[in-house]
Amino acid sequence: MSADGVRPVRRGKVWLVGAGPGDPELLTVRAYNLLAAASIVAFDELVAPAVVAIAPAGAELIPVGRRAKGCRHHEARIHPAVIQRALEGKDVIRLKGGDPFVFGRGGEEAEELAAVSIPFEVVPGISAALGAAASAHIPLTHRECASSVTLVTAHAAGEQGDMTARIARSGTLVFYMGLGRVEEICAALIGGGRKKETPAAIVSRATLADERVVIGTLADITARLRAAQLQGPAILLVGEVVARRVESTAARTVEPRAALG
Ligand code: SAH
Repeated sequence: MSADGVRPVRRGKVWLVGAGPGDPELLTVRAYNLLAAASIVAFDELVAPAVVAIAPAGAELIPVGRRAKGCRHHEARIHPAVIQRALEGKDVIRLKGGDPFVFGRGGEEAEELAAVSIPFEVVPGISAALGAAASAHIPLTHRECASSVTLVTAHAAGEQGDMTARIARSGTLVFYMGLGRVEEICAALIGGGRKKETPAAIVSRATLADERVVIGTLADITARLRAAQLQGPAILLVGEVVARRVESTAARTVEPRAALG
């Protein structure tokens, strides 16, 4: 109780939780447990509905995607509803696609929470690059042909111009991007010195039931992509590792377990 007789409100805590690439079985145990016990869940549009569905029936669900209602004016910042709930003393699970600190603006959200003294914790998630590579059987590194992996975002406008100067000239490249950027990225890589025959793969909706994989080279992946008519989200993998893709002899035969309990 403070001097004026008003009980100070305990601030709630915000968990920035990685929701993984889509398949709910790819959540961490900590993410699963937090979600299963949550009373407020704020989630991006990229988070798979099956992941959000793990929250208890009575939980308040707050869509905070950039396209969600009322979000236009705070694109780079945490949703005001999240701050408000935490200031009221409520704990909030802030679910973010993949990993919160890989192109997820998790860093900006953490800064903002810290600025208003809201305690927070970060729970890592399987980023799209890792989920897509595993699911498509493309190793991201290989002793014989790739000793580095570079994760690149191709979302930000105006970044493509100096892209080839900024990113690694060897090793595996993984682009987080809209499907509309593929042609431009491939052209920039060829212009920057990567061979036209460099193997490339696009994995769309990685780890979800409708995942698709398109394989080609920097020269022809755009045409193959057009023919395949993929849906987003999708990721582009470039490098010799794509040619090391290993087909599995059997389809996945083990049914996902219902829950971790
Ligand atoms: N924090 C996220 C990335 C957010 S940026 C992470 O760590 O994965 C959004 C981009 O991620 C999408 O444009 C797409 O390129 C990629 N992405 C997310 N989920 C994906 C999925 N299931 N399959 C393929 N790409 C995905």
